[in-house]
Amino acid sequence: MSEHAKKAKLFLADESRSRWHDETLWMVRQKRDHVAGMVPEWEDLRQQASDIKTDVLEHLPKYLQQFEEKATHHGVIVLHAKDANEFNQLILSIIEKHEAKNIVKSKSMLTEECGLNRFLHTRGIEVTDTDLGERIIQFRGEAPSHIVLPAIHLKKEEIGETFHEKLGTEAGASDPTYLTRAARLHLRQKFLSADLAITGVNFAIAETGTVVVCTNEGNADMGVHCAPIQVHCMGIEKIIPRQTDLGIFTRLLARSATGQHVTTYTSHYGKAKPGGTMYVVIADNGRTPQLAEPKYRQALKCLRCGACMNTCPVFRRSGGHSYGYTIPGPIGSILAPRRDEKKWSDLPIASSLCGSCSNVCPAKVNIHEQLYAWRQDLMQHKKTSWLKRVTMKITGIVLANNGLYNLLGFAARKALKYLPHSWVYMPLNAWGRGRELPLPPKQSFKQWYKQNRKK
Ligand code: SF4
Repeated sequence: MSEHAKKAKLFLADESRSRWHDETLWMVRQKRDHVAGMVPEWEDLRQQASDIKTDVLEHLPKYLQQFEEKATHHGVIVLHAKDANEFNQLILSIIEKHEAKNIVKSKSMLTEECGLNRFLHTRGIEVTDTDLGERIIQFRGEAPSHIVLPAIHLKKEEIGETFHEKLGTEAGASDPTYLTRAARLHLRQKFLSADLAITGVNFAIAETGTVVVCTNEGNADMGVHCAPIQVHCMGIEKIIPRQTDLGIFTRLLARSATGQHVTTYTSHYGKAKPGGTMYVVIADNGRTPQLAEPKYRQALKCLRCGACMNTCPVFRRSGGHSYGYTIPGPIGSILAPRRDEKKWSDLPIASSLCGSCSNVCPAKVNIHEQLYAWRQDLMQHKKTSWLKRVTMKITGIVLANNGLYNLLGFAARKALKYLPHSWVYMPLNAWGRGRELPLPPKQSFKQWYKQNRKK
């Protein structure tokens, strides 16, 4: 059994949790459909976003340079990191330089990707995640299970237990308003004493040298306004060329992510406040090699909205932690193998290839085509298990041979009908785990079609 399948099995063992997870994310997907349907030019917006990102990826050095020149002109310190280690070292050097003791951080998938919290923790520096969902999983020592809804895998009772243990809320209390108030009081203290604030970046505008951060909780703003030192962390692909492009992306982002018309806070940071210092740390961390691969380059258009996760039938039922990679779900399954083909070889298989992910993606990333391309590459590079390779080889032979296909179809129908249940659903039958096939029809589809096509 693959790693993904093992972890998915664990998640599915709690039936009420997995059903609730599935239904909640499907509700978010439906909200997304509803608000997207209210924008007549929705498909035009997606195409424009995709075209802008194509232009960015084709001229990335030019836009990065333009961004840096503009930002530097406004006194912003722009730093570059080639990989996760360099990124973490740069952040550490900023913290040490300013002798920062109280550090607050709003959501940044780049810092998750680079393992920043862990890196700083081993050096005795604690960072407080200020996004409510992030803070919950930080208390529990877990990774986010979704890039927009990091604690979506947890029930409110579990959050109540965590808050009771960490914040001293009443035992057994699970009322969301009560718990949110407790979190607010706790985080307020952290904000007020912060001397350095770290944020992610949703968009970096080359034309103006400003960074744009979108949050629903205003926690990025609280951190940046309270702390004298602000550090904005971004991957090289976050650049967009012009200020006028921003509206296209912000209209798409909120609707795709949570079904909102607009994100509650869309904050622009262009220079440090009086007496403060502003840094932008730009990380490559494996993006340039991906840029050089035409087949997989489009994954760098991702806006990290999470819509592909909400719609994916596998993600909704298996939970984000089953993927094991920092970014779970369909987009994570095409990003992870770029990092390590062997380690993440099971992820492109963890998909129904239904294409729903590509259909909802606001940047029109061809996710399902890349999943399929990864499957072919991983087979050819012999990175998948031998069992998977043999099974695929045999399947390929059967599907290419009409007579053999008909014969095996006939045998399977008879076996399902006449063999004892325990034989059909023996442990070797991986497909039989967790699902039972209905009794087969008397004839195959081909036979039925021959008889009925002229009617
Ligand atoms: S691949 Fe598309 S749908 Fe998935 S997170 Fe990125 S932008 Fe959103």
